[in-house]
Amino acid sequence: MKAVLQDKDMAELTALVRELGEPAYRAGQLARAIARGARIAAFTELSLPLREKLLARFEDEPVRIREVLAAADGTEKYLFSLADGDLVEGVLMRYKYGNTQCVSTQVGCRMNCAFCASGLNGLVRDLSAGEILAQVLAVNARAGGTPQKRAVTNLVLMGSGEPLDNYANVVKFLRLVTAEQGLNISPRNISLSTCGIVPKMYALAEEGLPVNLTVSLHAVTDEERARTMPVAKAYAIADILKACEYYFEKTGRRYIFEYALIEGENADRAHAERLAALLKGRPCHVNLIRLNEVKERSLCGTGEKAAYRFLGELEKRGISATLRRRTGAEIGGACGQLRAARLAEEGRENASADPKKSEKD
Ligand code: SAH
Repeated sequence: MKAVLQDKDMAELTALVRELGEPAYRAGQLARAIARGARIAAFTELSLPLREKLLARFEDEPVRIREVLAAADGTEKYLFSLADGDLVEGVLMRYKYGNTQCVSTQVGCRMNCAFCASGLNGLVRDLSAGEILAQVLAVNARAGGTPQKRAVTNLVLMGSGEPLDNYANVVKFLRLVTAEQGLNISPRNISLSTCGIVPKMYALAEEGLPVNLTVSLHAVTDEERARTMPVAKAYAIADILKACEYYFEKTGRRYIFEYALIEGENADRAHAERLAALLKGRPCHVNLIRLNEVKERSLCGTGEKAAYRFLGELEKRGISATLRRRTGAEIGGACGQLRAARLAEEGRENASADPKKSEKD
């Protein structure tokens, strides 16, 4: 694989044009061409010899939209192929206030949550900052957006991967996508979702990037949480809550908990009561999620009635909560489903997962 030009920030682009013997203003031209989502071959503001020099060193299209599935509600699901042939997924959800893109931060995931398709084969590899950015650039361009008038207005880091398990690349991506010379998306329009890697939550609070912090809680006791989320053995709910408080103190951002309702697991009235007791008085919000059933996983979501009952129990106790609208269930909206299906069709479902990688830690 060649290098990824989209990895570079302004200082690195400036160093690059100097190294290529080009005038300094070329760095700005490069930044604008990158933000447009163009392939290097289509950087027509640059001379052909310069484009050729770039193409010799950098991937022309590090992230390519290989497939698009559209749902009736306007949701679009993308399968992206990376330069080395690996696959990741993304989704664009259309809301009244704008369009939210869900991006992936890793190929696969090593967290192995019991309900999630992304971790079925462990972690394959981290995405670079530029590979995360290029997902947004590709979708923005496809949807007719420009850097001045973005079609992608909001981002959620909720695709495959655990963002805080790929910390440096994710933080660099956040700097690139919020940069003035880039897409200039406000950190307030970006939500980073984590399964609760506590030390990295503290680190993120210090970055000066006030993105919305979302934590996948999905349980009310550490024992129950460990049944569906192996990461619970490393970090206790009490410590996650402390890290959330710290994040709030540092950034002033209210935090959000994701809670997927799983039949017979976490969705009884007693769970709602315990969840309300845990969160009472905290500057947070609860997003209840209807589980997208994954065929390789045996868990079932609760019915709609039970979900509204759970919501009511929280609201009655003064907890700010919503039941997330289901978008795109018929196109396999849940993390990792499309990739898993295509890898299986191509007979390479186990081909790319490296067990050594998923075992480290
Ligand atoms: N690793 C991060 C971000 C990716 S998952 C995290 O754990 O938060 C984004 C959200 O989708 C998480 O809340 C995750 O728990 C949830 N999720 C995963 N599989 C799901 C499924 N089958 N149905 C509903 N939500 C799911």
